[in-house]
Amino acid sequence: MGGGIELIPIVFFLGLSAGIIGKIKGSSFLLWFLIGAVTLGLGIFAALLYRVERNEPVAACPICGNTVAMSTQVCTRCGEDLDWSFEEDEEEIEPSEVR
Ligand SMILES: [Zn+2]
Repeated sequence: MGGGIELIPIVFFLGLSAGIIGKIKGSSFLLWFLIGAVTLGLGIFAALLYRVERNEPVAACPICGNTVAMSTQVCTRCGEDLDWSFEEDEEEIEPSEVR
């Protein structure tokens, strides 16, 4: 069982590195800390490759075609009340719908 304890600081450091990267990318520090520690450093690369999907889903206003975030309740251009009652699929906006 010798030597096991020496790995703890290394694992901690690896987890810390992945955690900081994950935090910078806007994700959870704790989550990436655990990933980095469990994967013995591979999590750092995972964190580096992790894509920040901060972009809100958007949709075209049915009235004027203005592209608005789906969290928006009122169109910023024409003031139309927007009801996004349909399912938020990952469909892309049809360019033909704009104007
Ligand atoms: Zn509109």
